[in-house]
Amino acid sequence: MPKFYQLSRKERLEQLVAEGSIDENDANYLLANHVLPDAIAGHLGENQLGQFALPFGIARKLVVNGVTRNVAMVGEEPSVVAAASNGARMASAGGGVSVTIPAHTVAGEVVFAGVADPQAAVALIRAREDDIWDAAAYAHPSIIGRGGGLKEVTVAAIADFVKIRLLVDPQAAMGANMVNSIAEAVAKMVSGWLKQASLLAILSNYSDDPVVGTVDIPVAAVATKNVDGRTIAARIAQASAFGQLDVERATTNNKGVMNGIEAATIAIGNDYRAVGTAAHAYAARTGSYQPLTRWTTDGAILHGEIAVPLQLGVVGGATAALPLAQIAMKLGKIATVADAQAVLAALGLVQNLAALRALVGPGIQSGHMALQAGALAIAAGARDAEIGELTRQLQDTDKTLATAKKLLAIMRTRK
Ligand code: NDP
Repeated sequence: MPKFYQLSRKERLEQLVAEGSIDENDANYLLANHVLPDAIAGHLGENQLGQFALPFGIARKLVVNGVTRNVAMVGEEPSVVAAASNGARMASAGGGVSVTIPAHTVAGEVVFAGVADPQAAVALIRAREDDIWDAAAYAHPSIIGRGGGLKEVTVAAIADFVKIRLLVDPQAAMGANMVNSIAEAVAKMVSGWLKQASLLAILSNYSDDPVVGTVDIPVAAVATKNVDGRTIAARIAQASAFGQLDVERATTNNKGVMNGIEAATIAIGNDYRAVGTAAHAYAARTGSYQPLTRWTTDGAILHGEIAVPLQLGVVGGATAALPLAQIAMKLGKIATVADAQAVLAALGLVQNLAALRALVGPGIQSGHMALQAGALAIAAGARDAEIGELTRQLQDTDKTLATAKKLLAIMRTRK
């Protein structure tokens, strides 16, 4: 039976319909290769000239909290989806990834600068905290009806700044606009109390309350063609330990993690800049930039762990406007923010596993360049059927642009 990646696009879609992952309408939509209707595209971007297309693919069979998922990913790097599927396969040998989710909250900051008596201002604001709760409720009443809204108010003096921190539960939304509305309403009211304008009022993309995923994989599952699983697991743990000591390695490690997380964030129509920024700020929270993942082994089991904050929403933003975002959520069985957080954290962990295994085993370039050959063929000028043929021919070469051009010229003279 052919593997999923060996099927044609139509056959893949037929398989997903047969599995119940998507329905006929979804498959037809994907098959017709629709781009966004002008009315939607024009409202999502200003000065819109066209649409920028990137491949939309899936990592197969990622087991997260006992549920097997197809995780949609958007990106231009061919090896990323292949690595994610490979990581998912290895993780499934250990029963998949278990993920715990923190409370879904977003903080807003209202800041006053150059406050003459910061401590007195803090005392005044604290004494009128009830009014802050009322202003927040008035600014966004519907979220209270949904069980969310303001959850905590803290006030602090930082040098001659005064900061009001508003912790908001945005329910199924990511919460940026919601928190900004609440923060601006509070800023306006408190400006009257302090008799000075606020400096700024906006959400913070920072969170030190991460989503945590763990996996325990029998070492045999990470063996390579030439090296046994116990050795590979030990080398993965060493690479992980080195990343904790070396910022150059930690940064590249986290790029690999974000290969998965950002690709999936885009696929579900969420704000990947917010997710990326929060992840890197969390990695640097101790003052030393650290890997988002850790791997250890006792010789029998390879234990992996990821801790990463994930500000996501399953409603709001562009989630409803982008048909592919809706299909991506269906594919991943993502109905709640917690589902989205669990899937993305697990994806980051298995993506990292696949990269580390390649790194400490055969090296990253053999697999990477095999998949990059298609891009090289296109760069050399191959068109239509030539792309597939040249990609095949490039597999046994040095995979340089010069070679690709030479092979293409030969191919054309033979026609
Ligand atoms: P929206 O502004 O779209 O607000 C959420 C919407 O979802 C509201 O209209 C809300 O309705 C509706 N909704 C329906 N059901 C629910 C539910 N169960 N729970 C919660 N809301 C529900 O999105 P966000 O506030 O989440 O803001 C996200 C957007 O903000 C993203 O596009 C992001 O890119 C952008 N942004 C990000 C910033 C940053 O990260 N620094 C800064 C500024 C913007 P109702 O109004 O009736 O409650």
